[in-house]
Amino acid sequence: MERFDVVVIGGGVGGLTLALRLAKSDIKVLVLEKVKNPGKIYKGELLQPKSIENFHEMGISEEVMEKSLALPIIHTYEMTEDKDGQLFESMYIPLRYDMLPSKFAQARMIPHETLKTIILEEAKKYDSFHYWNPATFQTFTKMDEKKAQFDRALIKYGDEDREIQGTFFVGAEGRSSIVRKAMKQQVVTTQYNHHFLTVTFPRPESYTEARMFASHREFIGLFPLPDNEIRCVMLIKPGSYNKMKKEGLHTFYEPFARFEPELEPYVQQIESWKKIQLMIPIRHNIHTYVKGNAAIIGDAAHTVHPMAGEGMNLAIQDGAILGDLLCWMYSTGNLDKKHLKQFEKVRKKRADRISNLSHMSALGYAWPFKWYQWGRKFALKRFERHPILHYKHMLNISGVGWWPYSLYDAFRFIGPSNMYRKKHFETRSKKVIFDETDDYPWRNE
Ligand SMILES: Cc1cc2nc3c(=O)[nH]c(=O)nc-3n(C[C@H](O)[C@H](O)[C@H](O)COP(=O)(O)OP(=O)(O)OC[C@H]3O[C@@H](n4cnc5c(N)ncnc54)[C@H](O)[C@@H]3O)c2cc1C
Repeated sequence: MERFDVVVIGGGVGGLTLALRLAKSDIKVLVLEKVKNPGKIYKGELLQPKSIENFHEMGISEEVMEKSLALPIIHTYEMTEDKDGQLFESMYIPLRYDMLPSKFAQARMIPHETLKTIILEEAKKYDSFHYWNPATFQTFTKMDEKKAQFDRALIKYGDEDREIQGTFFVGAEGRSSIVRKAMKQQVVTTQYNHHFLTVTFPRPESYTEARMFASHREFIGLFPLPDNEIRCVMLIKPGSYNKMKKEGLHTFYEPFARFEPELEPYVQQIESWKKIQLMIPIRHNIHTYVKGNAAIIGDAAHTVHPMAGEGMNLAIQDGAILGDLLCWMYSTGNLDKKHLKQFEKVRKKRADRISNLSHMSALGYAWPFKWYQWGRKFALKRFERHPILHYKHMLNISGVGWWPYSLYDAFRFIGPSNMYRKKHFETRSKKVIFDETDDYPWRNE
């Protein structure tokens, strides 16, 4: 029976990032991926600065930069209807990644499968990397529940059943994680009062900036990809997907005529509803990410609302940090499974905060009332005009650091924007950046 140091179930972005980190340190890692050709399923494409920093540490940031498109600013527009129902811009807010003190002070758009291919091809350069595809993890065949010790697993590899042994098992298999179930972890689920439609279509060559448009009842996000494509997300009411399908594709094109007429001829190139994907947002909170010699990462450990573009990034950052911990365990001979808990210690708090932040961003667009839009505009304006509030928001979503929200923020929110001490801002804004000790505390042991 073949034995591996680490068995990673799921070859999504999270599993592959982890495996690359391990393979680079000569740890015998097996990735199991059940889908042979993923086809055109839309998943995350927006990379936050911290994820790019992680790829930089793994030596693949150059290729990621080459195959992605930079978004230093996300332009957000609040639109108001005049008495004839015509929309006009009533507020503009730039969300500025370029204010961050990161080497990569920008978000980047990259097709999901392109990113996975970059990581996979890099990992394949190492002899210690093993990739079984199509291979489905079925169940653990030898485990001791009391000791939380998982030893063997049954895999369907092509048409064959194979049993394998692993020192550590990592569930990176997305929302319906088998490893999480084996760890007997409860999931707390939050559902939302809205759904999204999402699709990629061609764009004009010059349309290279990300824009989000919201009226009191609609929301569209437009995120340019390389190769003259653009990814669109459109908020809809639950149930309206089937209604729109019955009425025809013009119901999908129509908001573009009002929000972004420049893209109207391009969106009309979508010829079938089959190209448009319904996305039902969901949030999962899980109490524990580690049990014995098993851990869960990415969507298996925390599914977040997509409004802030964080799910894929949490998976990448989990993979990078768990990878570093396992490398440290192997290089120092500290193979006791108790050390795995350090992964949870670093990541759970961060993932919970980002999950809350994504949830709050979603709530901002949850109700289609004029007074609700008025409240959102008020909040956005306050956030943008106060340097500390704007910086905090961008820093926190970027993953590069965390500056906690405090009671002072309530005063900043209502008070004048020049009421802050520049010196305090400059010192504090540097202290809240994650450094090596925050990300990889075991390295100092
Ligand atoms: C439409 C859409 C848009 C999104 N937009 C964004 C965005 O802009 N930014 C962002 O950060 N996030 C976004 N997300 C979220 C993001 O895609 C996910 O959070 C991210 O893909 C999670 O990565 P993962 O590696 O944990 O899981 P996944 O990407 O789900 O990968 C899990 C892998 O495990 C495999 N697998 C499952 N079960 C088994 C098994 N038993 N055996 C073997 N293999 C198995 C699956 O085939 C899959 O390949 C979006 C998601 C969707 C659906």
